[in-house]
Amino acid sequence: DRIIAADATHEDEAVEASIRPKRLDDYLGQRPVREQLSIYIEAAKQRAEALDHVLIFGPPGLGKTTLSHVIANELGVSLRVTSGPVIEKAGDLAALLTNLQPHDVLFIDEIHRLSPVVEEVLYPAMEDFQIDIMIGEGPAARSIKLDLPPFTLIGATTRAGLLTAPLRDRFGIVQRLEFYSTEELTRIVRRSAKILGIDCAAEGAGEIAKRSRGTPRIANRLLRRVRDYAQVRAGGHIDPEVAHAAMQMLRVDPEGFDDLDRRLLNLIIENFDGGPVGVDSLAAALSEERGTLEDVIEPYLIQQGFLVRTARGRMASHKAYRHLGLAPKVRDSG
Ligand code: ADP
Repeated sequence: DRIIAADATHEDEAVEASIRPKRLDDYLGQRPVREQLSIYIEAAKQRAEALDHVLIFGPPGLGKTTLSHVIANELGVSLRVTSGPVIEKAGDLAALLTNLQPHDVLFIDEIHRLSPVVEEVLYPAMEDFQIDIMIGEGPAARSIKLDLPPFTLIGATTRAGLLTAPLRDRFGIVQRLEFYSTEELTRIVRRSAKILGIDCAAEGAGEIAKRSRGTPRIANRLLRRVRDYAQVRAGGHIDPEVAHAAMQMLRVDPEGFDDLDRRLLNLIIENFDGGPVGVDSLAAALSEERGTLEDVIEPYLIQQGFLVRTARGRMASHKAYRHLGLAPKVRDSG
């Protein structure tokens, strides 16, 4: 397992419950999102209505689940958490919906993975707070309409484009989470350190933040590993030198890249002359699935400008050559 993976591990889940921000004021960064939501939440409370349905999209680990907890807390209502793949049958969704109290929040993570049958049930529930359910089987089967309490659905997905148009259109509020700046991640690391009782200097937190790939979940995970190192090797205090040494042990470099990232860049440069090279050739050479390459390994390298996606395949940028200590290739013109 990669230390810099954005998906949650079991250990993350156990710790995240204790450090997850509960109010908008503790939800650091994402300023436009916070500003807009605070208004919508206040307005819904003043009108004593359920908040409009909210769609949150953004890469894993950026705070979608956290934001849904924050929204429910700020509204002063209960939150039910589930995910697209968990809701297998229309009846599962009906059970969740009919158990909500007025104005409650239902959070569906990975909402793009709902089956079409379940999605059909969701449309009238979102629009008219009604569901049609089938009672009985065979010729005796009949459908009855059930009224639901007004509720807020919060859907989360990694990319808005994964949703069907009818589902997307039923969200009144759409928010996109961005990667966090180093400064914002530094604040997140310092906040987590305080809650977990970790002795971490501001500059130590900055070293961790820089290598966290814009992602709070990774920042919090690196903090825990650096804490272990500091405890055993440095009397428990995290300063920049200790953070740096711990990262060297973890083999996470100053850009937040691990061995796999470096292997990919190296491969393109050394074996494919800097590219362009097709994704399938790269996946084969790395012994990884094409999907893993595209969804897990590449995005951060592309976003940071180390890897370039072209119609003819992937290319290593000058930045990639420099990062690996190599001289950039001079390309022929023409
Ligand atoms: P996602 O649902 O997008 O995968 P999570 O909401 O589970 O991400 O966030 C992962 C962890 O990162 C949370 O447990 C929380 O501690 C931290 N986190 C996320 N967003 C923020 C934020 N804006 N401020 C502080 N901590 C955050």
